[in-house]
Amino acid sequence: MSLEILVARDSSFCPGVDRAMRKTEKKLARKKGPVYSFGPLIHNPQVVSGLRRAGLEALEPESEYPDLRGVPVIIRSHGIDIETERSLKEHGAKLVDATCNTVKRAQRAAQELADTGFRVAVLGSPHHPEVRSIIGRAGADVTVISNIEEAGRFAEEAVRKPGPVGVVCQTTISHNLLDSVVSLLHSRGIVVEVRDTICKWVARRQEDAAELSKRVDLMLVVGGRNSSNTAQLAAICSAAGVSTHHIEDPSEIMPEWLEGVASVGITGGASTPDWLIDETVARLKEVAGN
Ligand code: SF4
Repeated sequence: MSLEILVARDSSFCPGVDRAMRKTEKKLARKKGPVYSFGPLIHNPQVVSGLRRAGLEALEPESEYPDLRGVPVIIRSHGIDIETERSLKEHGAKLVDATCNTVKRAQRAAQELADTGFRVAVLGSPHHPEVRSIIGRAGADVTVISNIEEAGRFAEEAVRKPGPVGVVCQTTISHNLLDSVVSLLHSRGIVVEVRDTICKWVARRQEDAAELSKRVDLMLVVGGRNSSNTAQLAAICSAAGVSTHHIEDPSEIMPEWLEGVASVGITGGASTPDWLIDETVARLKEVAGN
């Protein structure tokens, strides 16, 4: 019996990453000197290597800049914090803004809340560059909450401080986290203005992955190990009760994974290229002898 292979509806680049890639490729096609991205353009090692071969260099955050006068520096889809933007401009860089519009919406929401007197809580990972780009616009009294325990500590403080609380989300967090944090704050009597800035593409991908996980014997989640949305997808598939592997490259697929398996589902992160999904399908067929 041949192996059934099902690929999730959205399994490769999201619109924000796709736009950043197209902007970068256009710059590289016309390049007359160095072209930089601020950090690796996306969280996918194969794509980053390909871009490097095409001439894109990555500026390392926190390190000393080379001569940037008149040099294009691409701002990645998850944006940049205000201080870094200022510093790059002071060094003469020509910024090419590939910040995703959904991330810009989260940045604006944080700024509006802070400007209108809210104490802002950003739900997300404090070290993620997108969150840093949001908190820089969220006023002096901003807190990052990455899990429900931290939300509890924030609530204890918030009940003692006067003034309303505004909540903004990192675009890739789950609705589960948002809902549980907001319920907890409400349960302590805290008035909350919620700006749901979760990316609809991420939410849809997560729903599809959870649904596909229920219909197959094995899930493969393809994407960079440094991609948090890919890791989150793998966690969602595992939580649905199906055996799941997060792979960065199709060569990682082991024949023993397919023992007793009749169907495999495949999904990928927002920075996984479509050719990597195609190669995963091809490798599965090869291993299964389809
Ligand atoms: S995942 Fe969503 S917010 Fe992030 S870059 Fe893609 S479209 Fe934009």
